[in-house]
Amino acid sequence: MFNTAFARNEEVVRPPAPWQDVPLTQWNDWRWQLSHRLNTVEDFARVIKLTPDEIAGLSAPEHFRVDVTPYFASLMDPDDPRCPVRLQIMPTAAELTPFIAEMEDSLSEDAHSPVPGLVHRYPDRVLMLVTTQCASYCRYCTRSRIVGDPSATFSRAAHDAQIAYIARTPQVRDVLLSGGDPLTIPQKVLEDLLRRLRAIPHVEIIRIGSRVPVFLPQRITPDLVEMLRQFHPLWMNVHFNHPKEITPEVSAALARLADAGIPLGCQSVLLAGVNDCPNIMMELVHKLVINRVRPYYLYQCDLVHGAGHFRTPVSTGIEIMEALRGHTSGYAVPTYVIDAPGGGGKIPVMPNYVISQSPDRVVVRNYEGYMSAYTQPETYTRHDPATCPACQRRAGVTDLQAGVSGLLSGQALSIKPEGFEATHQRDTKLELNSFTNGF
Ligand SMILES: *Cc1c(COP(=O)(O)O)cnc(C)c1O
Repeated sequence: MFNTAFARNEEVVRPPAPWQDVPLTQWNDWRWQLSHRLNTVEDFARVIKLTPDEIAGLSAPEHFRVDVTPYFASLMDPDDPRCPVRLQIMPTAAELTPFIAEMEDSLSEDAHSPVPGLVHRYPDRVLMLVTTQCASYCRYCTRSRIVGDPSATFSRAAHDAQIAYIARTPQVRDVLLSGGDPLTIPQKVLEDLLRRLRAIPHVEIIRIGSRVPVFLPQRITPDLVEMLRQFHPLWMNVHFNHPKEITPEVSAALARLADAGIPLGCQSVLLAGVNDCPNIMMELVHKLVINRVRPYYLYQCDLVHGAGHFRTPVSTGIEIMEALRGHTSGYAVPTYVIDAPGGGGKIPVMPNYVISQSPDRVVVRNYEGYMSAYTQPETYTRHDPATCPACQRRAGVTDLQAGVSGLLSGQALSIKPEGFEATHQRDTKLELNSFTNGF
């Protein structure tokens, strides 16, 4: 195993093989890491024992971009093609095969983009794609339709249009920077974007979604963190899938971010062969909370080209949630979500804990299968929106996406599927037709 000196937290005197002759100062320099990324059969053959399947994936002319930092490549098991680190970054023949139900833009992000690279799906928050470049490329990338193409990244003009949209849209209180990876753009450009977003009064929080702490922990320098902390409240979501990714270098990077007061979350993707196991997930979430990272979401794998062989049944995710909730700290339990195909957004999925209910009692069960009855109150003085200050303050906020919550609060009586009215007028139409057609 290459990285044992790092993993054992010993005094590190030289980089792992085959980089043992690279001076440590270079190895620890993120610029060196970025400019020495691996992407060809020859590059990888120096590090791992390539399988025919991996060679086929690397050699396919139309494959999704490959680029892996030497640091992350050093975490691969050279002899085991099932290594969870290796599976995430090494192309294989399987990713070239289309599967039933795959889509190019499975989350319909393009349809929800008022300006290029800005996805306004939810009422009060936007996803702002600032670049198409990453430190390394995940084979299951949900945005592989745009990510990785160096000739198609977002320009200064695109950033200007994105910020102008946010500035003229007062309901946006949360801006989520993503890409690509926002921590790969020049620090000055990122600082400028953050400063311009902070200057918009209605932007309450800014979030960065990044895998740089995982692929390139060397990039989390004191200087970068000092820059970021000027823009609080700033949150960050990182992306870990397996406990093996949390090395001493990564722990140091996460500690720097947390010490700067940046609350850290983790978004993981449920991947066959990588983390589709309750015990691996348990080890991952424990390692995350030790590093002050709150598991935030566990995603069902999207219906995206290249990711077919990573997909699991949804039942695998529910089984993992069953094994986590109650069995470990609530802080360590993420929300399992399906990002709904077609652009429905993230939908939480979990085991059922409410067994039954009457006006008198609710029967619930715990993680052990213990069932109990919670007695409902005999009398309840209902919350009165007419005297509630928060209800008064938000009365002017017209929520066009009130959904089921709107049904409960009486804003609407029904939600109808597309074509509902027309379908149920069929008799009338028939009569009309028979009348006008004369039979
Ligand atoms: C995930 C996502 C968000 C943020 O969702 P949260 O549940 O608030 O984390 C916002 N916009 C889009 C388009 C997203 O996909």
